Amino acid sequence: MQFIDLKVQQDRIKDKIDANIQNVLAHGKYILGPEVKELEQKLAEFTGTDYAVGVASGTDALLMPLMAYNIGPGDAVFTPPFTFIATAEVIKLLGATPVFVDIDATTYNMDTTKLEEAVIKTKEEGKLNLKGIIPVDLFGQPADYDEINAIAEKYGMFVLEDAAQGFGGSYKGKKACSLSHSAGTSFFPAKPLGTYGDGGMCFTNDKDIYEKLLSIRVHGKGTNKYDNVRVGLNGRLDTLMAAILLSKVEIFPEEIELRQVVANRYNEKLADYVTVPRVKDGNISAWAQYSILHPDREKVMAGLKEEGIPTAVYYPKPLHLQDAFADLGYNKGDFPVSEDISGKVFSLPMYPYLSTENQDKIIEAVKKYA
Ligand SMILES: *Cc1c(COP(=O)(O)O)cnc(C)c1O
Repeated sequence: MQFIDLKVQQDRIKDKIDANIQNVLAHGKYILGPEVKELEQKLAEFTGTDYAVGVASGTDALLMPLMAYNIGPGDAVFTPPFTFIATAEVIKLLGATPVFVDIDATTYNMDTTKLEEAVIKTKEEGKLNLKGIIPVDLFGQPADYDEINAIAEKYGMFVLEDAAQGFGGSYKGKKACSLSHSAGTSFFPAKPLGTYGDGGMCFTNDKDIYEKLLSIRVHGKGTNKYDNVRVGLNGRLDTLMAAILLSKVEIFPEEIELRQVVANRYNEKLADYVTVPRVKDGNISAWAQYSILHPDREKVMAGLKEEGIPTAVYYPKPLHLQDAFADLGYNKGDFPVSEDISGKVFSLPMYPYLSTENQDKIIEAVKKYA
């Protein structure tokens, strides 16, 4: 059994993938070829946003909007410490300061009460400019955007949605990536919509940000590639990656449905044995991960391993305790919910094509060892 088995999907759409790859090899436009534009249009439509920009990774999909917002030294960007490092890494890469905000104990997303407290504290200290917020749609569930957007507006900040795990999910009827000023997602193979390599996409309704993203994506180009109006990146999504994704977008809505079936079944059968994930009313999770809590996770994980069932821990150490952010001066105890959850959380195999048989095997093993 695999943690995420990408082969079942590949077998299902193999002809389409092959044909799309052959098309690229035939036209030869490997850099920003027509498939990139087609994918941008399809996913802008899917998410209900005006503009989409295909980029080289999910990390670039967060870094580039921050560059477009002109983030730099002296700027504060608020984000949770219980996430993948890329979320806060991009803030620090630009010389700005990540200000961590603890998570909610049931959704594991940014706690909006603590967000406003952190904003007020930072404002009172007067050392940093209040610039932006990067909420994370952790494990696939959108964060609390009504509250977050209201706080952002009150203090004059932007919101950049980290939807690397949330793509395909929704919040009060609106799709992830459309929930704030801008958003970034990832097409890393194991994400809900994954390609066969690295890739990502930025989304926004803001024409000015969109135009800056197009420039930043190609070394800060102006009217042409050799007219450079700002410092940018080589941040392009490969044509081949876009072609592979185009073969997957048609079945993607169905796959999100299949993920609900798997997650609902896990929830129903495991609720009495472990802490199962809670999806808020009005939210649909993309179920990038199915993550549960157990006070002795090492025991349960070891038992599952013995039965040939792989598990993973997202994330064993919150970012405020990582050496990479030591200079921010945080200590153990600063974000108790993140620290508590990171000591108990682990994830079970989750993908749209996980068979009922394998699911039963996993459920029985969790019951046995939990
Ligand atoms: C995967 C991930 C990223 C980064 O995406 P890459 O494509 O690997 O660069 C950023 N944020 C979160 C929450 C992620 O899970």
